[in-house]
Amino acid sequence: MSATLPAHAAPPDTGAAPLPPPVPAAPAMPPWKRSWRALRSLWRRWFLWVLLAVLVLALLVTVVWLAGRHEVEQVQTRLDRDTADAVADVRAGLARNVQDLQALQALPNDAAQTAAAAELLRRHREWLRIEWRAADMRLLRAVDTPFRASVFDLGTRAEAQTDVALACTGARRQRSIAYSPSHYVPLIHPAGMAGGVEAMESCLPLDDGGFLVATYSLRAMLNELLGPALMRGQEVSLTETDGTRLVSLGTARRLGNRVFTAQQLLDLPGNALVLRVDGWRAAPDLFPNVLTGLVTAMSIALVSVLVLLARDTRRRVEAEDNLSDALAFRKAMEDSVITGLRARDLQGRITYVNPAFCEMVGFGAEELLGTSSDVPYWPAELAHEYRLRQRQRQASGGTAREGFESVFQRKDGTRFPVLIFEAPLINAQRVQTGWMSAFIDISEQRRVEEMSRASQERLQASARLATVGEMASLMSHELTQPLAAIASYASGSMNLLAAPGDVTPTDRDDIAMAMRRIAEQADRAGQVIRSVHDFVRRRDRARERVLPAMLLEAVMPLVRLQAHKLGVQLLLDVEPRLPPVFCDRTLVEQVLLNLARNGMQAMDRADRSERVLTLQVRRAEGPVSAHGGEAGSDVRRWLAFSVADLGCGIDDEVAARLFTPFFTTRPDGMGLGLSLCRTVVEQHGGVLLYESNRPHGTVFRFTLPVAEPAARLDGAQAQLS
Ligand code: ADP
Repeated sequence: MSATLPAHAAPPDTGAAPLPPPVPAAPAMPPWKRSWRALRSLWRRWFLWVLLAVLVLALLVTVVWLAGRHEVEQVQTRLDRDTADAVADVRAGLARNVQDLQALQALPNDAAQTAAAAELLRRHREWLRIEWRAADMRLLRAVDTPFRASVFDLGTRAEAQTDVALACTGARRQRSIAYSPSHYVPLIHPAGMAGGVEAMESCLPLDDGGFLVATYSLRAMLNELLGPALMRGQEVSLTETDGTRLVSLGTARRLGNRVFTAQQLLDLPGNALVLRVDGWRAAPDLFPNVLTGLVTAMSIALVSVLVLLARDTRRRVEAEDNLSDALAFRKAMEDSVITGLRARDLQGRITYVNPAFCEMVGFGAEELLGTSSDVPYWPAELAHEYRLRQRQRQASGGTAREGFESVFQRKDGTRFPVLIFEAPLINAQRVQTGWMSAFIDISEQRRVEEMSRASQERLQASARLATVGEMASLMSHELTQPLAAIASYASGSMNLLAAPGDVTPTDRDDIAMAMRRIAEQADRAGQVIRSVHDFVRRRDRARERVLPAMLLEAVMPLVRLQAHKLGVQLLLDVEPRLPPVFCDRTLVEQVLLNLARNGMQAMDRADRSERVLTLQVRRAEGPVSAHGGEAGSDVRRWLAFSVADLGCGIDDEVAARLFTPFFTTRPDGMGLGLSLCRTVVEQHGGVLLYESNRPHGTVFRFTLPVAEPAARLDGAQAQLS
């Protein structure tokens, strides 16, 4: 039990629980500090989650970025490779063309060569014209492509002569083909529209010292020497090494704003060109390919799982909070109850004790937990009996809550009575896992009971003495008669003895008769005194079998005394062959005496001529309760005693307080009679009731149980004691 709770087992002599020492109040925390703490605990709880979320997010962003980059790199690599392949294709094409030109040399005459050249021009659309030139670059003859008309204007052709001559010089020097730098050839359009082609000459030195010059259209060269696949969706250009665009082919589908460019040098003898391929891609797309899509889907799934996890954690945290609240509440409850609680498993081992139980027996929880048959709070001599009891209870496996009394021993050796309630301990799966017992220290209750019993006894004694005081005056009145009779018989006898002359036989007879009368009267006086003495002295409280007639007989001398004084006629009506009742004789006699005395006094107050007090005993149906019902489960038989008077009756005002102790309407009354009567009757299991009598007055009735046969009686007696 915590220090803040009062110790419930107070020492019997003081009768009051000692007050616990005042607990110093904890200093109040400023609000900012409280909210700071709350914030810190919130942060601690969510820190890992926030960290995890950030890491996962970072990971996802990185993966998506890497996937995008990877894809971009792949596109670029493919473009580079395609460009390199294209350059190789152009080289190969040019090399094939050189072979075709060389083949022209082998032809026998000019006419054949010209015809072959025309044929070649038909096959090679990239060529605009083939010229035979002399060593001094003089044009000998030329064949134009059949696909274009009037390609060359002689004027512009002359401008290119220098480049061609340079190329031919280079070719002669290397003895292989050489190319001139590209140049723009304006076209003479029939409709007079401006236009032109970007052209480049290749010069092949001939064995006769002349040159074979083939003019290439760069656009047609790209068109013919490169596959159409490269042009699809991409722009293919030839540029100067400084980046000046010469020709472009293909169309770019501008799917996005991302441009991929690959450049490859086309290094020809005498001329260096750059092949450039531009591709437009919608990269980086969010869903550019399966990998990115997959990663994104996984990311979404991961984020969803994270959200679900976070929600789950929030619910868990809520549940934990609720649980810890419930636990704190339970702990506070366990600590505050003054009922001892103890749990045992099915083997009888103690698995739990609450602070109140430890406080009750004086042992710490660690001394008790785990113990089974050797618990330290069992008195040594009773341990064996308790062990048997425990085993029986375990074996019976009862499920009902049972309450029984026992005696425990504190650590300091003192003993105390406890009331034990035991109930099976059922877990969440509805399986019994042990026993839960609640203990109530009833030493205080016992002390109070003892005190109330003692005070009741004292009250009874006082009431009895008050009755005796009353009796004393009645007795003096009653004794005057026999004493007067004794005195007169004595003085008569004295007179006879004192008369002169001898005592005659007649005198002797008279004296003897007087002596007998004296003896009789003395005996009567003695009976009066004894009856009062008996009544006062009898303190025996044991219950016994008593015939109702005997109870009446015991009180009748005293009742008669008062009846005689008040001029009351007594009527006794006892049903024949009544069984004995089982009662505390002295107390029941007191009840009868009180009721009879009250009745007679009521008649005295009423001042009526008719004064009859009827005492009646009959068999009854049962102990009729105050509400008119019967105690259903009681199988005992009952006798009903009634005391009926023709007195003043009981008005409502008196009725309301009739059984209240110390309520009386008599100046010399104590007001204890009826309250004691009811207590006595109820202690015997009966009821005390009253009702109006006819034609006036009151009838008090009470019931007492009929004594059981001797054998059953012994058991009942043992139980009561
Ligand atoms: P006491 O006799 O000392 O006054 P009781 O408890 O016996 O105390 O009775 C309480 C009161 O109940 C009496 O003072 C009386 O007014 C009333 N009383 C008891 N019995 C009767 C009766 N039979 N008839 C009328 N009044 C009664």
